[in-house]
Amino acid sequence: ATPMSIMVGTGKGARAGILIRSAEALETAHKLDTVVLDKTGTITAGTPVLTDIRPVGDVEPDRLLVLVAGAERDSEHPLAAAIAAGAREQGLEVPTATGFDSVTGKGVQATVDGHAVLVGAARLLADVGIDTAELASAAAELSAQGKTPVMAAVDGRPAGVLAVADTVKEDSAAAITALHEMGVQVVMLTGDNRRTAAAIAAEVGIERALAEVLPEHKADAIRGLQAEGRRVGMVGDGINDAPALAAADVGFAIGTGTDVAIEAADVTLISGSLSGVVTAIRLSRATMRNIR
Ligand code: ADP
Ligand code: MG
Repeated sequence: ATPMSIMVGTGKGARAGILIRSAEALETAHKLDTVVLDKTGTITAGTPVLTDIRPVGDVEPDRLLVLVAGAERDSEHPLAAAIAAGAREQGLEVPTATGFDSVTGKGVQATVDGHAVLVGAARLLADVGIDTAELASAAAELSAQGKTPVMAAVDGRPAGVLAVADTVKEDSAAAITALHEMGVQVVMLTGDNRRTAAAIAAEVGIERALAEVLPEHKADAIRGLQAEGRRVGMVGDGINDAPALAAADVGFAIGTGTDVAIEAADVTLISGSLSGVVTAIRLSRATMRNIR
């Protein structure tokens, strides 16, 4: 494209709240045939709330919540914030923890009130040989509702399941419909479990979901789609999305997301709405049409 048409396109984007970092991004966006969307914070608002507490055996729900909230105290994950807020709402005193450790994409562990507490995905518990069978049916039921189940183990034994739910952003479904109408395939990419991913995907009309993808494998998922011969756009908000944003043909960062994601992306959607991706691709198509 000519420098003039690029300038016009970039200016139009800026007025629509879409910051395009390079001429190349504006020139490439019209070729995208696949757009990959991170789930948490991209399709959903990213401010989950605690919805369920399901202890096993005779453990009191409040006791389970106190132990879990204690273990999550030093975590910066959105799930941890939801659990802390839930404990505060119940008026519970959350003890300080020692020996805190977080396992990216899996969960956390810490000692709370003298008890070894593990909180996270099923694979976190399974990794240390804890049998999650007792927790599986509650987790399956909660995830079928689109909630994210969080498993807890205390002193090496399963202790219960908590659920955290996030709401889909108001205009996510409309943006996904618009992408489909433009002939663009939409894929969800998330570290969350398969069932939750499938429930949210169904809610917004996405036909393909790649779930339980560890942060370090998100970029590989993009390269896998490119190896199928696709031109891939990626939209994300988190630190763990940065390598995938960089690997994509065009990376789009949610403007309300982390600085790391914004720096790794080619385009920033200031309002955080997915409709910005639709506008950006349309703008690129118009720009490239004008110069041919
Ligand atoms: P996403 O791709 O949706 O942003 P992450 O890669 O951050 O998800 O996390 C993947 C999964 O790991 C979560 O759905 C959750 O099951 C588990 N997990 C990660 N961090 C925590 C935490 N601090 N507490 C509980 N579970 C966690
Ligand atoms: Mg995210």
